[in-house]
Amino acid sequence: MTTTQPLELLAPLSGVLLPLDQVPDPVFSSRLIGDGLCIDPTSQTLCAPLAGVISNIQDSGHAVSVTGDNGVQVLMHIGLDTVNLAGKGFTRLVEEGQRVQAGQPLIEFDADFIALNARSLLTLMLVVSGEPFVLLTPGAGVVAEGQALLRVTPVAGADDVAEEEGDALFSKPLTLPNANGLHARPAAVFAQAAKGFKASIYLHKQTQSANAKSLVAIMALQTVQGDTLQVSAAGDDADAAIKALVALLAEGCGETVVVAHAETVEPVAPASSANLLRGVCASPGSAFGQVVQVAEPELSITEAGAGEAVERVALVSGLLQATEALQALQAKAVGSAQAEIFRAHQELLEDPTLLEQAHALLAQGKSAAFAWNSATVATATLFQGLGSALLAERAADLADVGQRVLKLILGVKDSAWDVPEQAILIAEQLTPSQTASLDTRKVLGFVTVGGGATSHVAILARALGLPAICGVPMQVLTLANGRQVLLDADKGELHLSPDVAEIEQLQATRQQQVLRRQREVEQASLAATTRDGHHVEVTANVASLQEVEQSLALGGEGVGLLRSEFLYLDRNRAPSPEEQAGTYSAIARALGPDRNLVVRTLDVGGDKPLAYVPMDSETNPFLGLRGIRLCLERPELLREQFRAILASVGLTRLHIMLPMVSLLSELRLARKILQEEAQALGLTELPKLGIMIEVPSAALMADLFAPEVDFFSIGTNDLTQYTLAMDRDHPRLASQADSFHPAVLRLIASTVKAAHAHGKWVGVCGALASEALAVPMLIGLGVDELSVSVPLIPTIKATVRELNLADCQLIARQVLGLEEAAQVREALRLYHAATVETSLVVEN
Ligand code: PEP
Ligand code: MG
Repeated sequence: MTTTQPLELLAPLSGVLLPLDQVPDPVFSSRLIGDGLCIDPTSQTLCAPLAGVISNIQDSGHAVSVTGDNGVQVLMHIGLDTVNLAGKGFTRLVEEGQRVQAGQPLIEFDADFIALNARSLLTLMLVVSGEPFVLLTPGAGVVAEGQALLRVTPVAGADDVAEEEGDALFSKPLTLPNANGLHARPAAVFAQAAKGFKASIYLHKQTQSANAKSLVAIMALQTVQGDTLQVSAAGDDADAAIKALVALLAEGCGETVVVAHAETVEPVAPASSANLLRGVCASPGSAFGQVVQVAEPELSITEAGAGEAVERVALVSGLLQATEALQALQAKAVGSAQAEIFRAHQELLEDPTLLEQAHALLAQGKSAAFAWNSATVATATLFQGLGSALLAERAADLADVGQRVLKLILGVKDSAWDVPEQAILIAEQLTPSQTASLDTRKVLGFVTVGGGATSHVAILARALGLPAICGVPMQVLTLANGRQVLLDADKGELHLSPDVAEIEQLQATRQQQVLRRQREVEQASLAATTRDGHHVEVTANVASLQEVEQSLALGGEGVGLLRSEFLYLDRNRAPSPEEQAGTYSAIARALGPDRNLVVRTLDVGGDKPLAYVPMDSETNPFLGLRGIRLCLERPELLREQFRAILASVGLTRLHIMLPMVSLLSELRLARKILQEEAQALGLTELPKLGIMIEVPSAALMADLFAPEVDFFSIGTNDLTQYTLAMDRDHPRLASQADSFHPAVLRLIASTVKAAHAHGKWVGVCGALASEALAVPMLIGLGVDELSVSVPLIPTIKATVRELNLADCQLIARQVLGLEEAAQVREALRLYHAATVETSLVVEN
């Protein structure tokens, strides 16, 4: 809501005032970015000219925008061409999303360094939201920091301009050529060009979107060279807008760039004809139903409190009620994944840093709602900005918990969405709480713009059996309620005008899958033995006791990988040695003395941080202190975990497995520590000790490792990323970082050969083992155990039963000689069609 109360802007610096026309840079002097003034600074701390929220602060620290409560947006840009300093000479004192007071220090800078290394120190203060203003001082001369400089008159309803509606068109993706991304200058040129069109236009970077007519929104995307961007537009001149803006982006928006081929100019609906929108599968399945758009109501938060004591009580009571609600959700959770998520949310409520921040604001006289909201938003923004997919997911959790407590403080009823029957929910983003409380009798599936296939929302959707896709273009938010759509989550597609044939075909395929699944589950307890009598052990990859129990019910023959780090992620405190021992023993007892339990020691570091094990940030975390390397750096951690695991000796067929081993010395040192701990406990019998093969050096040296281990388990997820030198989470390399690549398969083949020569068994516990298509090949390569994701146990066992070992050996030999992953997949598909499907026909 905008108000028309005039607002005074204070001088952000001390220095000498200059009219904008005298700035030796046309992008500023022409007022392209916005009108305002310029100061040649004599001080070195840039302060807020108004109270508001930091709507953008550039990573390089040279520019910052503050948006006041009445919508006035002020950009401050320190120096000219300072983006080229890449952050050198600037210290950011605030974070994006943080609330600041007028006069609060925002950025410190080293004036000498900047004067020497950039074009100029001249600092701009510009009213980029375009409101009229008057100068309160003469237009030139000396000003002191904090002195009132401008009076701005906000325009009521300025942001309510109606925009053209209609289906949005999307450009093809294009690669940003600007060396420093879309910083102030090119962003201003782009926004100015966008303003020349009536259409509503957005600029998209992965799942983030910015109003293309807002300079600050574009800067807030924090684009960098090489980012993949898309432009979307809706309205009469959408087509022309996309053509012009894509061409402008390709040319560098006024900056000199190496121009890419202009093949990207034609607008297309994003892999979407007018009738199809594409995203990524978050939870498999399909559904035909009606569009139901859902959005969270805006909450109104008053900043000033009614006294610290009163507000403290309100905050504590909100936190307490939220804890109780989360405990109730854990109690009625379906499956361990769901319970784990709400347990993690409960942990967030106790996070000391968060609480400290909130209490500091209460002490400043703020309301409980304001204090809690500021603390959670600031921390979530921080997580999001760290460039880690895992932390970005934590940010989503934090936002969810933040809203839960906020509603309790404000007394807003959290009514479950009242949705009609046969609903396909469409949302910008769903929270885990919202997902868990969906009424699955009415909701058939959902589609979101944000989120990822590995997010907690995706995990919950799978647990609820709801088909879902995420990462869908923003256009989906413009679909009318009630429109009949077909969600084919397996393919990541939303069909906007499905015809009868499409619906029938999908239903028929679904029906076949359901029948096949039913049969697999019914036969899950049968052994995984090929037609010619070769037995393969099918075990489970688990992260909790509940998953172990589920795996046994689905025919799992043991645990091939207990990812022990997942027992302790999302916690602020280390589990006590007793708790650790209790957890392992409970799992060991559930499995009993005749089944294998393979406990992998902590595989943290890299992309999996543990809150209570402080780690230095690393430039290449996947190549840094990960897995066994981290544990050997902190041997106390490893000793304690060994002791806890050793408490299960005698309860099950206990195996200990070391992750990320790349050197023989790591294995030897870990074995020595294990022996010392076993001896100290008076144990005469040692559990089996093995290593994961997930680094090429270990695979290539398998003949030297084999005599010193009891078993190998191949982690194809990491083995693929290290063999192909492709980050396993890289969005653009996802389709190439394929474990079916012959290079990975050759490493598997040589590992098996070396192990068998020494009488040792080999498992595969990476995701490749859970792919039915890969099973004949892995068996043919001689793999003895497949450790798979729990729900897939019946499928993998059924697949084994349909095969012949001799045929598998043939196909394995064939794929080792192919050139690329796609050829391997194709060969296996043909093999599958010729053998597995024929055998099904024979059985039926
Ligand atoms: C692997 O790398 O294949 C593996 C099983 O380990 P994680 O996925 O836990 O890194
Ligand atoms: Mg791994």
